[in-house]
Amino acid sequence: MAAVERGTDEWQKLDVAHHLHPFTDPKYFDTKGPLVVTHADGVYITDSSGRKILDGMAGLWCVNVGYGRQELIDAAHAQMQKLAYYNVFFQSATPPQIELSRVLSEITPGDLNHFFFTNSGSEANDTIIRMVRHFWEVEGQPDKQIFIGRNLGYHGSTLAATSLGGMAAMHGMGKSLLPGFEHIMHPHWYAEGGDLSEAEFGLKAAQALEDKILELGPENVAAFVGEPIQGAGGVIDPPATYWPEIQRICRKYDVLLVADEVICGFGRLGHWFGCEAYGIQPDLMPMAKGLSSGYLPIAAVAYSGRVHKTLQEGGLFSHGYTYSGHPVSCAVALANIQLIKDENLIQTVHDDTAPYFRKTLTDAVADHPLVGEVRGAGLLAGIQLVKDKATKTLFEEDLAVAVKCRDHCLNNGLIMRAVGQSMVASPPLTITRAQIDELVEKAVKSLDQTAADVGVM
Ligand SMILES: *Cc1c(COP(=O)(O)O)cnc(C)c1O
Repeated sequence: MAAVERGTDEWQKLDVAHHLHPFTDPKYFDTKGPLVVTHADGVYITDSSGRKILDGMAGLWCVNVGYGRQELIDAAHAQMQKLAYYNVFFQSATPPQIELSRVLSEITPGDLNHFFFTNSGSEANDTIIRMVRHFWEVEGQPDKQIFIGRNLGYHGSTLAATSLGGMAAMHGMGKSLLPGFEHIMHPHWYAEGGDLSEAEFGLKAAQALEDKILELGPENVAAFVGEPIQGAGGVIDPPATYWPEIQRICRKYDVLLVADEVICGFGRLGHWFGCEAYGIQPDLMPMAKGLSSGYLPIAAVAYSGRVHKTLQEGGLFSHGYTYSGHPVSCAVALANIQLIKDENLIQTVHDDTAPYFRKTLTDAVADHPLVGEVRGAGLLAGIQLVKDKATKTLFEEDLAVAVKCRDHCLNNGLIMRAVGQSMVASPPLTITRAQIDELVEKAVKSLDQTAADVGVM
């Protein structure tokens, strides 16, 4: 049966009537319906009016290989014909899940050679919380239960992942912050650095972890969790001094180090994983988004030999999801990883498109009166909007300047996301230089229009 075709107005009315959107103020839809996306190919999406839009966000930071890739479509089709579903509970396994574990063990750094599959990044982080607390119990340190995250960290939207993250609005909704979660400052030099050099600020931001561990007592702290670059917090890339110092502190107090690779993994920073860009070796790594380039839901937790050994001693691991290691999702993830290798995408990002993106974007917007800072690494960018460039003064909250800018972007045929008073971009890794030029040109035009709206010249 062919899908029903409707006009944009009709789609929007039906949507408003029956669907609550994630992270969206329902009031928004009183005046304006959703963007209804019907097709996509390469780095472009097409909406229900036939308009072609450059997707500068790769969906939600996930469509790393771009849209419409036949290899992934074929892999799903073939696997569904062979075995559409079987579970991996108890003593069962399927070839795609076995093969994906093997292939992942070849690309994950160090001795992160063991995997647990989930359906989402949130579930991967929930799994880590349960796994690590269990790990410490088995190790004979049952008080090591507290997780330390960071302000503006994002680790997902389940109850536990919300608590692990540092988003005040999420904690506030229904008092969602569980006990056993603590947060330290985020390493954003531009906003928090004061008179310190970038290198000094990186060490200061890391020192906050040691201070927090000592305040709580190292015997009570299970793990520290951070994204190599904070994504949903506004693309906050830390100073080079930050991560090695965080790692040193974790090792000193035997606190497990968790690098949340849900955005940075699978090539976004020009490496398979973001931790490689910062020279650290985590004990556990959640991965999701780029694992299947978003073609099907799948996520995983990678964990080290030490964690594996203890879990082996720990007896029954009472945890799992019906669709853990779903064979079709695993087959698509395998095809996705193969495509990344065959097209040499990570090297291309590292050597060519990421440096070109960074230089083109920075040259085009750094001097713009509305722009305080251009930040990020690889194919991940954040543009800080400011009312006054010299004093780094932000706008009054209710001006919603970034939302204005995002709407201009959409009118100009570009998807960028508004986060607080920043604009962020995370295009597919397949983006070409010509498409980067198009992205930057449309971003500049949108910034100019926003500046005119808010009277910043
Ligand atoms: C998106 C995201 C998650 C949550 O993943 P879901 O699949 O949406 O549950 C976790 N961590 C980071 C860093 C993310 O960006």
